[in-house]
Amino acid sequence: MERGDRAGRNDQEDRISELRVAFFAAKRISPAKLAAQIQVDGFSCLQCGECCSGQDNSVVVFPFEIRAIQAATDLDWLDVVSPPEEGEWDKYGYFHTLEWRVKKENDSCRFYQNGRCSIYPVRPMLCNTYPFYLDNGILQRSECRGLGGKIEPDEALRMAERLIKRYITEIRESIALLERYRDFERGEAGKSGRIVVHDSEGEHRITGNKVMDEIASIASLPAEAKASSHSRSL
Ligand code: SF4
Repeated sequence: MERGDRAGRNDQEDRISELRVAFFAAKRISPAKLAAQIQVDGFSCLQCGECCSGQDNSVVVFPFEIRAIQAATDLDWLDVVSPPEEGEWDKYGYFHTLEWRVKKENDSCRFYQNGRCSIYPVRPMLCNTYPFYLDNGILQRSECRGLGGKIEPDEALRMAERLIKRYITEIRESIALLERYRDFERGEAGKSGRIVVHDSEGEHRITGNKVMDEIASIASLPAEAKASSHSRSL
């Protein structure tokens, strides 16, 4: 193992250790105290649809959420989600990117239809906790016209419980992603149409408009890619 590889691996392990600490801290967050903060902020959904449309709409979804949407809709994986546009190229012409986004059509979430969410019972956690999220265990708010509205104590408590569940899931998914992540040697941008999406399950490889392998492990990379792969922190 070369020095740079070892440093990258150590960084990755340090980050996983930090996330494990955050995981146990997250489990100690009091739903009642969080609900009290949500009540101070206030929130009432105006059903304006602004969080489901527009260029800023970008919903990160985890693999288990994608499968729940697939089960409810009978849609193929790539009809539910797209890889994000941000990423880097490896020297074999693959574009590498992290995690999935709910597919968009005409600048809106593809599931926003006739002024409502067509997958409401299985909508992602990011949606069922909007406009709130937890960052380092601290309550944060996204832009939303419904903030400041009246929220009943029982609804604030349910929101708090969903937020904690989402936060714990995000940490768990980040740990799993880091544990499975294998770095790659960077290359020139190209137009091969081949994409590797890294997520908590490993690597999903896409070519053209199709998922090549549902989950491709590092073992299925070309031999020379395996030889050159090394790790870094995310
Ligand atoms: S999944 Fe539903 S709630 Fe989430 S952005 Fe799309 S339409 Fe809106």
